[in-house]
Parts: sequence; structure tokens; C-alpha cells
Amino acid sequence: MDIPKIADVVIVGGGVMGASTAYHLALKGCKKVVLLERNSLFGQETTGKCAGGIRYQFATEINIRLSLLSLPMLDRFEEELGQAIDLRRCGYLFLLTQEEDVQTFRASLTLQHRLGVMTQWLPGDQIRSRLPFMRLEDVLGAAWDPQDGLVDPNSIVQGYIAGAKRLGAKCLTDVEVVNISLKKGRIHGVKTRLGEIETPIVVNAAGPWAAQIGGMIGLDIPINPVRRQIAVTTPTPWLPLDFPFVIDFAKNLYFHREGPGILTGMSNLNEPPSFIQQVDHEWELIHFDAAMARIPLLEEVGISSRWAGLYEVTPDAHPILGMVPEAKGFYCINGFSGHGLMHGPISGLLLAEEILDGKAHTLDITSLSLTRFREGKAIQEYNVV
Ligand SMILES: Cc1cc2nc3c(=O)[nH]c(=O)nc-3n(C[C@H](O)[C@H](O)[C@H](O)COP(=O)(O)OP(=O)(O)OC[C@H]3O[C@@H](n4cnc5c(N)ncnc54)[C@H](O)[C@@H]3O)c2cc1C
Repeated sequence: MDIPKIADVVIVGGGVMGASTAYHLALKGCKKVVLLERNSLFGQETTGKCAGGIRYQFATEINIRLSLLSLPMLDRFEEELGQAIDLRRCGYLFLLTQEEDVQTFRASLTLQHRLGVMTQWLPGDQIRSRLPFMRLEDVLGAAWDPQDGLVDPNSIVQGYIAGAKRLGAKCLTDVEVVNISLKKGRIHGVKTRLGEIETPIVVNAAGPWAAQIGGMIGLDIPINPVRRQIAVTTPTPWLPLDFPFVIDFAKNLYFHREGPGILTGMSNLNEPPSFIQQVDHEWELIHFDAAMARIPLLEEVGISSRWAGLYEVTPDAHPILGMVPEAKGFYCINGFSGHGLMHGPISGLLLAEEILDGKAHTLDITSLSLTRFREGKAIQEYNVV
């Protein structure tokens, strides 16, 4: 395969971040956009392994604002890109069993209301009567937003890649970036296994591998890959059609309807950073015990599929978005820490603005700069699952 010799922008990585950035750059008139994905298909890593959840319910203003801009882009997605994304507004229900979580979520609700997200507080009894097949005796209350929901991750990637190609971008698979060259502190080009591409701009959209891409120019990007796993059950005909995305917040355990069954995940907070993507069967047993304790009927179903993927985790669970002062022409769109699918649409647009217009103007993203860590300006997100 021939690869271009020259580009205006090279994007490393073809998950939701790379695909959205390529589309929005091309849409804004950038001519020679080249996206390089080392796998044989786009969107098969973190994006393809995610749970598909989209929500407004966050604890920091910047994350809520990202959702306020990104989720409406998903509403318009099919009309804009001609690709259905199976959007379902099933709502997110955060079940809370600890008094300190109740206090924090109550404070988040106030923030969300101020920003126009009308999350509701539901008392424990109301939840127990709505979900009688779940064991919820210990639930003190829940945060509920019916506007949250689900989408199909692969359709989003395919929609953006097809849209970017229609606008003239070159999106290539089976091309691994192995090095990046600088000249006088400026990006000069990328080296791939198939040859070199001269470019003044590189976008790091390499998901859990973002730190490796930064390392190619001697940059320390604080992103750790952390395994997270999911299982989907065989059919659960007793599950109500309007079953929401339910999160047992204290246990990092979640459920939502997936085809005829249930998709469930539980984050192991002691999982050490690594690139391991095999299912941890010991953790799976702990996960299934916790899942059956909440939904006893799960004892009667089997597992139809299971997989593990990698979160791309920053120290404050917020993304690193925008230009990097150390290397002119190097941009990051990384570290979404478990909620990147839903913020992919707006993040690609914001980065395209920053690259082409010198500054993101749809939303101020200076608080998401890489420099925040050394400047002591990290901002912790509480609603991480
Ligand atoms: C189990 C699980 C559940 C999740 N649930 C949700 C959810 O419900 N909602 C939500 O919003 N988010 C969720 N997420 C998080 C979300 O999936 C990620 O934040 C998002 O997909 C990150 O996208 P990305 O494009 O940065 O990374 P990726 O999709 O991993 O894309 C990066 C790409 O870069 C490529 N690459 C790496 N190095 C190179 C190189 N040297 N050369 C060329 N290509 C390279 C990789 O092959 C990969 O395809 C979940 C994640 C997991 C693992």
C-alpha cells in the first residue's frame, strides 16, 4: 500500500477520537488530513470494547459542558452523517448506598441544575417499586436523568470515518506510526512501517497507547492503560423494555439492556496499569457474585459473550485536550478515563478548532491542557465508573 508523502495533519489512531478529529478537520476545510490506524479495522480497541453509555451526569463543570455539547451531536449524527447509531434514551440511574456518596451526588445535582441538566433525585422506596426484581434494600436514593442513554460505538466510528473520507481525508488501516520527528522544536513528520510522511501537525489519538506516542518526542503524558471487562448474558425475557443504565456506584457495578440480554461490568479498582486485555476470570467471579446479589434472576442465565478492554486513565479522570507547548504542532486528544465515547464528537470538533483557528471557541478547553498537572491545576471527577 502507498501512503501519502506529505500531509497537513497526521492523526495517530482510528478510535472515536481520531475519527471525530479527522471528520471535523475535513469539515472545516483542512485539505490533507491523514489518519493512521495500525489495526486492520478502525475502532476495535477501547472504543469497540466500551459499554456505549452516554450521560450528562458528571460532577465537574467541564465534563457536564462537554456532555451538553456532545450528546446533541449524537442526536444529529444520523442526519449529518447518514449513519444510524442506535441511540436509546434509556436514562442513567446511579444507585447510592453510602451517605458520603449521597452528599456528593446532591452537590453534583445542584451543579447540573445550574448548567441546565435536570437530573432528578429519587428516594429509595421509589426505586424499589420501579425495579422489583432487583435487591435494593440498602439503596438510600438515586440520581436519575432520563436524557442519558446508549449508542452503538462502532457506528459512530464508521460514520465519522466515512464522513471524513467523503470530504477528502485519507483514513488508512494497517499503518503503525513508529516514530515522530521534530525540527527545531516543531513537528516535522511521522515514520511508519510503510514509509515517512512529512507534516507540521501530529494529533495523538492513540487512546491507551497515548503515552507511547508522547514518548516518541520525549514527552511525558500521564495516561495509564487499565483493564476493564464486560459480560453479556443470554436472554433475560423478564427484563423490562425500559430498563435503564443502572449503576451501583459504591461497587462500580453496572447493568444495561443489550439485545435480548443484559450487559454488565464491574471495575476492579485494584487493577494495576497494564496492556493486558485477557479476561480476568477471578475478578469475573467477584463481579458475577455482586451482579447476582443485585439481580438474583441472573443465577438462571448464561454468558453469551465477554471481553476486556483498556481505560485510558489520567490522574484526575479528565481528558488531555489541545496543543502541547513543549512541541509546536503536537496535539493531544487523550485520557478520557472511561467516558470518552460520549465526549468523542465534541472533542474532535474542539481539537479541529484549536488546530485550524488557533483556539477552541465552542468551549474553553484550557483547563484540559497537559500543563495542568505540573501547574497543580488538576480537577478531580467523582462520577467515574
Ligand atoms: C470496558 C469499557 C467500557 C467503557 N464504557 C464507556 C461508556 O459506557 N461510555 C463512554 O463514553 N466511554 C466508555 N468507555 C471509554 C471509551 O471507550 C474511551 O474513552 C474511548 O473509546 C477512547 O477512544 P480513543 O479513540 O481515545 O481510543 P481507542 O479506541 O483505543 O483508539 C486508539 C487507537 O489508536 C491506535 N494506535 C495506538 N498506537 C498506534 C500507533 N503507534 N500507530 C497507529 N495507531 C495506533 C489503536 O490501535 C487504537 O485503535 C469504556 C471503555 C472500556 C474499556
